[in-house]
Amino acid sequence: MNGSSNHSVLGLVELSDSQTSAGYHSCNSLRVIRDVFEDRLKGWVRAKDQWRLLNNNRVCVILKDIGSQGELELAAAKLGRIFEEPHFHMGRAMPIAVTAGFAEISSSGRDMKLAMQQAGLALNQAKKSRRLFDVYSDQCNSNNSDERELVSRLEAALEVGELQLYYQPKVHAAFHTLIGAEALMRWHTSGGQVITPDRFIEVAERNEVIKPMTRWAIKSAVGRLARWPEELSIAVNVSPKLLLEDDIPAVVRDALEIYGVRAQRLNLEVTESIMMDNQEVMLEQLARLREIGVKISIDDFGTGFSSLAYFRDLPVDEIKIDKSFVLRMLESEKDMAIVKAVIDLAHNFSMKVVAEGVETKEIAEHLADLRCDVLQGYFFDKPLPAEQFVQHYRL
Ligand code: C2E
Ligand code: CA
Ligand code: CA
Repeated sequence: MNGSSNHSVLGLVELSDSQTSAGYHSCNSLRVIRDVFEDRLKGWVRAKDQWRLLNNNRVCVILKDIGSQGELELAAAKLGRIFEEPHFHMGRAMPIAVTAGFAEISSSGRDMKLAMQQAGLALNQAKKSRRLFDVYSDQCNSNNSDERELVSRLEAALEVGELQLYYQPKVHAAFHTLIGAEALMRWHTSGGQVITPDRFIEVAERNEVIKPMTRWAIKSAVGRLARWPEELSIAVNVSPKLLLEDDIPAVVRDALEIYGVRAQRLNLEVTESIMMDNQEVMLEQLARLREIGVKISIDDFGTGFSSLAYFRDLPVDEIKIDKSFVLRMLESEKDMAIVKAVIDLAHNFSMKVVAEGVETKEIAEHLADLRCDVLQGYFFDKPLPAEQFVQHYRL
């Protein structure tokens, strides 16, 4: 912000449930917006400011007469304080994360569209670096171009076959016999590096490139299944963005047909957080996939806002307890209680339970005692390239 004269600043403020890092918004949090946003924002904006609820979980505000960057920072800090307290929804505390992006409105006040775009870039930047807010600068543009570059490199990687699926075994909890594997993506760059998904999946999911990537993963995994023994299954992580695409059941059906693979051997993993977004569309799409015969798993279970009401109607076959609970279950009574509760809940709904992140023998034994069905984790193996997996398990 330059000069001493006062400027108007456009702010985009976004609410999300603070437990889903990737920026997905559950139905619950969408509902919270109506309840909470208006209420709390009234305590933030001044009478002379203007604000408007946008149709997603964002609010556009115009802060008038902002004299300096420091003044804007104070306003942003106050915004953070206002949302510090969790919101209580039907007796449950829902922690709320608020993020904002600001951009100066040109003195003529004409170019609102530009200010909107710039505030959007600043908001993305703040979310990426997990800051409360950012103010638009040329830096935002260059970070955005970093992201664009990564996306084009990913597109090229897909094209030239630099993406690979690694396979991590899933074993029977009581007998430790192999029942299948989870396919996990790795990027082998031309420079000889192996890049893990934490470095590219989030960016891919923010962009369209996740769609061809996931389609490729499904086809590639089904192709692998055709060469593996009939009793083994493979789980593929499906991006929420792809699940909303109409053609996904067709992609799955075609792959199974081309390779002549039984649908029951393919498992699609979707995260819990996304189950609560666009709930109706998601449930329909999952039901359509289950009609084909593929199995559906809820991944990272326990990390989102589940309500038992939604659980009741969930067309899924398997629950994967998030590794954060499994890793700590022997040290933390609370984590142990969650693991037990999830196993009982799933069994009551005739679902199977997979524990991921099993790193020790003790944890594996304990989970078997608790009647968990399937185990996955470093204690058995890390994700392996397909050839190594085949050799190791003598397929
Ligand atoms: P996820 O689906 O929860 O996958 C499990 C992650 O836990 C994997 O990390 C796996 O290597 C790691 N893991 C397995 N056993 C253990 C253990 O005993 N201890 C610990 N601490 N970690 C363990 P990875 O391969 O780095 O994948 C990270 C995430 O990236 C995955 O989490 C998934 O969300 C995403 N991802 C991976 N491949 C794909 C893909 O093909 N498509 C999509 N959409 N997402 C993918
Ligand atoms: Ca997974
Ligand atoms: Ca998981």
